[in-house]
Amino acid sequence: MILDGKAVAEKVLAEVRDGVGRLRAQRGVAPTLAVVLVGDFAPSRIYTRNKMKAAEAVGIQSKDFLYPEGLSAEELFQLLTALNLDEAVHGILLQLPLPKGFDEGAAIATIAPEKDVDGFHPVNLGNLLGGTPTLLPCTPAGCLEILDRYGVDLTGAEAVVVGRSRIVGKPLAQLLLARHATVTMCHTRTRDLAAHTRRADVLCVAAGRPQVITGEMVKEGAWVIDVGVNRLPTGKLVGDVDFESVSRRARGVTPVPGGVGPMTVAMLLKNTLLVAERQLAAR
Ligand code: NAP
Repeated sequence: MILDGKAVAEKVLAEVRDGVGRLRAQRGVAPTLAVVLVGDFAPSRIYTRNKMKAAEAVGIQSKDFLYPEGLSAEELFQLLTALNLDEAVHGILLQLPLPKGFDEGAAIATIAPEKDVDGFHPVNLGNLLGGTPTLLPCTPAGCLEILDRYGVDLTGAEAVVVGRSRIVGKPLAQLLLARHATVTMCHTRTRDLAAHTRRADVLCVAAGRPQVITGEMVKEGAWVIDVGVNRLPTGKLVGDVDFESVSRRARGVTPVPGGVGPMTVAMLLKNTLLVAERQLAAR
């Protein structure tokens, strides 16, 4: 079975569109997302453009703060501080990676936690670790949403996460743990990757390496979530999982493209609606 992230994302976006409509009707306000892009990194330009287009399609207003020529760390700090204080801005998206020389952690920590729609602020990550309802990082939240919408029971399941990054692997492992899965995390120092992945009822792969998971590394009947996005020299976009061999053994697998990618954008907009609702309720 193909786990159709695009279809799930469309359902999430329809729910967000309804929520935005309700908020507009009740409060006369559209959720507003500030999109900050520093530098001229081509993929980031495409990502931000896509996110703004998707926001517009569900009625979320976006304000762009694009600095292709760059700006100083101090200017970025001032911009983020001003956006934190601006009541007309509900969410702040700082497109990563920042150009060389920026302290990404410091920039993320400058964003007010209640406007941190990416869920990367240390307060939000800390809340995730502490089990407090919080703003969840979009990609891991998107993976969970796919599993939920396909009715995958995580309680007691053996879940294996390949990759331990701050933005995908680690928060994803926490989310799975919070849903009572037994979680194993793998990385480049893992001794026998296949021995772990073969035990997985739910296998989530976020390594950024094409074909890191092949069919013989997957348990019969497993659910496989492929987070990876890799551009081959031919220009073809592939995930981290060898789709053909893995789909012969797995019960369900996400394709690339059309799997986790669309979910990331959908969850970003879900977070934007959530922060707007919270901020307006508090006024
Ligand atoms: P990252 O920061 O480079 O982290 C990669 C992780 O994978 C590291 O923890 C690394 O281990 C581990 N790893 C790499 N090669 C491995 C191997 N051969 N065996 C086992 N573990 C291995 O990457 P990321 O930001 O988490 O992103 C991962 C992938 O997801 C990338 O392809 C990225 O483009 C994609 N992504 C997609 C979306 C989306 O919306 N679809 C969003 C975010 C990321 P060490 O820690 O030991 O180095």
